[in-house]
Amino acid sequence: MSANVASSVPSLQGYVIRGLPIIKQGDDIASLVKSLFDFQDGDVLCLASTIVAKSEGRFRDLESYHPTDRAAAIAQNIGKDPRFVQAVLEESVDVLIDHPFLLVQTRFGHVGVNAGIDQSNVGDARILLLPEDPGRSAKRLRANLGKDCAVIVTDTCGRPFRSGVAGVAIGWAGIAALRDWRGICDLHGKALEITVEAIVDEIAAMANLLMGEAGDGTPAIVFRGLNYPRSGGDSVFMAEEKDVIRPRLRR
Ligand code: GDP
Ligand code: MN
Ligand code: MN
Repeated sequence: MSANVASSVPSLQGYVIRGLPIIKQGDDIASLVKSLFDFQDGDVLCLASTIVAKSEGRFRDLESYHPTDRAAAIAQNIGKDPRFVQAVLEESVDVLIDHPFLLVQTRFGHVGVNAGIDQSNVGDARILLLPEDPGRSAKRLRANLGKDCAVIVTDTCGRPFRSGVAGVAIGWAGIAALRDWRGICDLHGKALEITVEAIVDEIAAMANLLMGEAGDGTPAIVFRGLNYPRSGGDSVFMAEEKDVIRPRLRR
């Protein structure tokens, strides 16, 4: 009986920060969220990349792009505006798939469709690039929170082999990207040999679930009660030399 009572004590709280305005270039997101939520040390703040990008002025006019022949050819093939394809290519260091959609590696290491460039929740004819370096953004936001919190910048992405989109982490600070279970014993005393858990992605997916995708206006989520590893220069972006999928895509 008492074991059941103990197991039903909440171990994690998720808070949807309400009342954020439409974010404009130059807006101080750390100050805005602090004015709406009382942060404690150990909280994990998740922010939709959309608002981080807006605050960093990552809006672009399609007219400013001049498509190369390559962009024009890809655009023709996938039925997109050549200027949009040019924008994607300019944010990319590698094109993994160029048909029936554009899957690229961004300059900061994330692999995503259309380099994560958004046309929804932008508000006018402009496009919105991802933050230039979401890890750097997360670090700056964390420093401005004034508490020992972690910050994760999220984006909604498709996943290979699975239907439906989910949130992933594209930048983080104050939290290790990965939790290494190797060497830890399972229930029967056998040490785990392989398991490295992408905790920033798991948290990002949970945050994305609470944010919504359309007109909810809730791009900031806080988790309290997560016991997470703080340090580590690790990343969820897989190094190309370890990736077994990329070489097969090139064939
Ligand atoms: P993404 O996943 O980073 O591409 O962002 P989404 O476009 O899916 O938006 C995630 C959440 O943030 C949704 O609830 C949107 O309504 C909300 N959102 C997007 N931009 C803004 C903004 O400027 N202000 C506010 N308050 N909410 C926004
Ligand atoms: Mn997005
Ligand atoms: Mn989204």
